[in-house]
Amino acid sequence: MRDLSGWGRYPRTSGPLGMVSDVDDAAVATALLSGVVARGLGRSYGDAAIGRETTLSATGLDRMQSFDPETGILAAEAGVSLAEIIETFLPRGFFPKVVPGTRFVTIGGMIASDVHGKNQHNDGTFGDHVEWIMLALPDHRVLRCSRAENPEIFAATIGGMGLTGTILSAGIQLKRVETGWIRQKTHAARNLDEAIRCLQQTEDATYTVAWIDVLARGKSMGRSLILEGEHETLSDLPWGEIPFPTSKFGRISVPMEMPGWMLNGASIRAFNAGYYLNGARHAGRDRVVTWDAYFFPLDGIGNWNRIYGRRGFVQHQCVIPEGAEHVLFEILDRLSAAGAGSFLAVLKRLAPASGLMSFPMKGLTLALDLPVSPENLTLLTQIDGLVAGAGGRIYLAKDALQSRDTFQAGYPDLDRFCRLRDDIGARGRIASKLSARLGL
Ligand SMILES: Cc1cc2nc3c(=O)[nH]c(=O)nc-3n(C[C@H](O)[C@H](O)[C@H](O)COP(=O)(O)OP(=O)(O)OC[C@H]3O[C@@H](n4cnc5c(N)ncnc54)[C@H](O)[C@@H]3O)c2cc1C
Repeated sequence: MRDLSGWGRYPRTSGPLGMVSDVDDAAVATALLSGVVARGLGRSYGDAAIGRETTLSATGLDRMQSFDPETGILAAEAGVSLAEIIETFLPRGFFPKVVPGTRFVTIGGMIASDVHGKNQHNDGTFGDHVEWIMLALPDHRVLRCSRAENPEIFAATIGGMGLTGTILSAGIQLKRVETGWIRQKTHAARNLDEAIRCLQQTEDATYTVAWIDVLARGKSMGRSLILEGEHETLSDLPWGEIPFPTSKFGRISVPMEMPGWMLNGASIRAFNAGYYLNGARHAGRDRVVTWDAYFFPLDGIGNWNRIYGRRGFVQHQCVIPEGAEHVLFEILDRLSAAGAGSFLAVLKRLAPASGLMSFPMKGLTLALDLPVSPENLTLLTQIDGLVAGAGGRIYLAKDALQSRDTFQAGYPDLDRFCRLRDDIGARGRIASKLSARLGL
């Protein structure tokens, strides 16, 4: 038995964790076990990567199989991490087409959550750059799925939260880059209106994302820093810099769970105000930063999830469809009125995605962390109601709380997904704590 939780350390549970060392073992385990779901590096925040009865760790599927520099297609097992891909291929001038906000995730986890990055508005989700998947089903079959072969299963596996079977390996597309540096431009927005406008105006940039101070009130409600980014070209690289810097991150780590009193409204308010004012000083100017500083700032502090103490925290990410932006104002108003502060909350524009259960839709997404407390859980449930009322949805990779009603309202292809799970014999056999909670 092992203690199991997501990155938010809420909810926590204990249960068996099966380890497999190759794709054949993983296929057999998927066929033999019941109430099982695969797990990558456990960076989803809630209960998605915990099996209803047994969890199957896929991190032993760690081999890269082939790489074609002409097409940029990497074939690799599902437990290979994004960190390993970047370490191996960035020095050769290749970078993944889509990366989430941490590099400690696996290929299987990125496909199953159909993760999005700061370029989702232009380049789509991770799933849009997956060529094929080898998938182990509960009936002993191993299927190759792609847009041409078993396309329905392919579409259900991308964003399907591991609920169609175990991803054994995949072919993913990398892109060419000339350097490992990002030219970053910061814009300061004094309130939510300005932030939304600025995200629109920076839409032609390859990457754009806003950090939002959710505690600011009154005329400053929604003040944000918008970070635009482009891959730096070799000819523009400042003199003396090496083209492909290695990561210097990961030397600082939070050694233990912090006492709950350290995180209070005052400390979070002070952090947010300082972060905004410091960032606003750089507004309008270009800075050239390393790939890890731009894409993965949180990876700079190991075990940062311990900052929230023993009770853990909930990461909450919703998307509000275009035309319903007034609901975002309402959400921010409720958060700031409750003094429910979050470090580094994020606001971003999203475009639709192709997986049956993918999270993105055309609109604005807001992601925030709140420490677990009865008041915060009640507040988030109220926010879920606002999101559902606006026709939005909650991201399953972050979810620990949403009700079945909110879930069903948010995912219009749910019936198709459930029928497909029936057809491949996954219902009841492939199951996580998340799927049990949401009645899948
Ligand atoms: C600091 C931080 C920043 C983040 N930023 C972003 C972001 O910008 N955008 C974004 O979209 N997400 C983001 N995330 C969420 C994260 O990218 C996803 O939750 C991702 O799925 C985690 O990958 P993992 O390997 O840790 O998977 P896990 O957390 O272990 O599992 C996630 C899901 O994938 C399934 N799964 C894992 N491996 C397999 C497999 N081999 N076969 C079948 N199913 C499998 C699991 O069953 C589960 O449903 C962030 C998370 C953190 C901690």
